[in-house]
Amino acid sequence: MHDAEIIAVGSEMLTPSKIDTNSLYLTGELNALGVEVRRKVVVCDDRTLLTATIAASLASMDIVILTGGLGPTEDDLTRDAVAAALGRGMTFHQDIADSIEQRFKRRGRVMPEINKRQAFVIDGAEVLPNPNGSAPGQFLTQAGKAVLLLPGPPNEMKPMFDGECLPRLRKMLPPSVLRTRFFRVTGLTESDLDQRIAPLYIKYTNPTTTILASPGDLQIHLRARCETEQEAEALLREVEAPIIQTLGQHIVSLTGEPIESVIGSMLLERSATLAVAESCTGGMVGEKLTSVAGSSAYFRGGFITYTDDLKRTLLGVPEAMLREYTAASAEVALAMAQGARAKTASTYAVSITGEAGPESSTGIPVGTVFFGFAGPNGSNAIRLTFPGDRTRVRAFATMAALDFLRRSL
Ligand code: ATP
Ligand code: MG
Repeated sequence: MHDAEIIAVGSEMLTPSKIDTNSLYLTGELNALGVEVRRKVVVCDDRTLLTATIAASLASMDIVILTGGLGPTEDDLTRDAVAAALGRGMTFHQDIADSIEQRFKRRGRVMPEINKRQAFVIDGAEVLPNPNGSAPGQFLTQAGKAVLLLPGPPNEMKPMFDGECLPRLRKMLPPSVLRTRFFRVTGLTESDLDQRIAPLYIKYTNPTTTILASPGDLQIHLRARCETEQEAEALLREVEAPIIQTLGQHIVSLTGEPIESVIGSMLLERSATLAVAESCTGGMVGEKLTSVAGSSAYFRGGFITYTDDLKRTLLGVPEAMLREYTAASAEVALAMAQGARAKTASTYAVSITGEAGPESSTGIPVGTVFFGFAGPNGSNAIRLTFPGDRTRVRAFATMAALDFLRRSL
């Protein structure tokens, strides 16, 4: 594996108003090449500090990429600092100066004298043309390492990296292919998930395993990098098999497909339809379901019945039941699902009612949510408890409703 460092040059990125975004783009491109970014630095426009940073980077990295500081002014120091760190000289290139001058002429302007600075090339460097700006980039190698000098403006840096640098880096790097897996998991907390699968993946550095978590939606990413596709696939199979076995029903999809779309496929397969009745999620479940293109083929609609009154009049939840159990109860969740199914003539219905907080209106603890399901083969209800504030409880409840529906189907 080759290691890279990205050095963003420019004092403005050390102010509260400007951030280095070039390195995000470059990291994606480098990862796709099989290069790992091991360190990123933002350095101010200071010759001594910049030279020391470059020297330190060269000591431990295979690839050093600098962006910014290639302009014509006194504080554009990248060329000088790289030359100093490498112990190389710089040479004035008349042809570069001419082409910068042409650029100014085309716009009816005269090139300021200081722009000649941009025509200095570090000895041994290849010049990278910049069709989108005046500062050319430079690509140089030393002892098997590569040093890249790229302009700061993203619209100049990106095409130069893609067009000029990728082909050069590919030639330097051993051939490699990247194969990935993307699983979606629900019904576990992030730490639960990690506890279960860490013993299975921790011994592998290839593939790498990453877990991403948002409320009720966990993602597992496996990335294998090998010389051949066969090797990468074999490695992935070896690592994924025990993970899939251990997680069982918690796995929503092995392709990264989100749960709302998995549910859509299940309903389409059965030519079935669906309705929702929502209280504490206020329409969020319907929003998720209808975010899938083509959902009109199975999603009939829903009810946002926030008050007891509407649960009664729109869904037919008995008044006595609401009085006896309160709206936050398994009984009412069940009646809501049955009501929604009957009123819409849908094959299935799912309901959500509970306490999102911050205060409890029914006396049950905040974070307690009930889910109802009704279908042709019967109905049932469950109770779950979620941590966090109102926003998190509602987000968890939305995903849990979808997961309850998926499992009931
Ligand atoms: P120029 O010839 O335009 O001066 P340069 O190579 O000297 O080019 P800088 O002066 O360092 O580049 O930056 C020019 C502009 O590019 C900055 O004002 C900023 O908007 C943008 N820029 C520079 N570096 C970055 C970065 N790392 N991430 C995002 N934007 C950047
Ligand atoms: Mg500049």
